[in-house]
Amino acid sequence: MKILLIEDSIDFLNKMKSFLEDMEYEVVTAMDGLEGIEMLKKHPDLVLIISDVNMPNLDGISMCKRIRKEQLQSPPIMMVTTEGSKKLRKEGEEVGVNYWLIKPVPQKMLISMVEKILNQEKS
Ligand SMILES: [Mg+2]
Repeated sequence: MKILLIEDSIDFLNKMKSFLEDMEYEVVTAMDGLEGIEMLKKHPDLVLIISDVNMPNLDGISMCKRIRKEQLQSPPIMMVTTEGSKKLRKEGEEVGVNYWLIKPVPQKMLISMVEKILNQEKS
């Protein structure tokens, strides 16, 4: 199963990528929202998008808005971010964000969350 990971911090990107690969997921990556949209178009078989919010060029929330606007086919979207404000979370919900985790996310929590989401999707 293929996951798109979008994160502008290379350290965090690599860390999350290796967590997910340890779980036997295939991981494709992008470093901002624009690249994220390109990858989404290129990989129609994604099962999940995990994205940061604060990124250059196109932030995570604006990316979701664009996915909606362009009516792109998208798997569930999980934000992993330092941002926790109610206002932003609500904005995220309104543009199609399904899950919201606050950094730092311990490996165990990330893994159990991803498995929970993907099990729900299957059933
Ligand atoms: Mg960032």
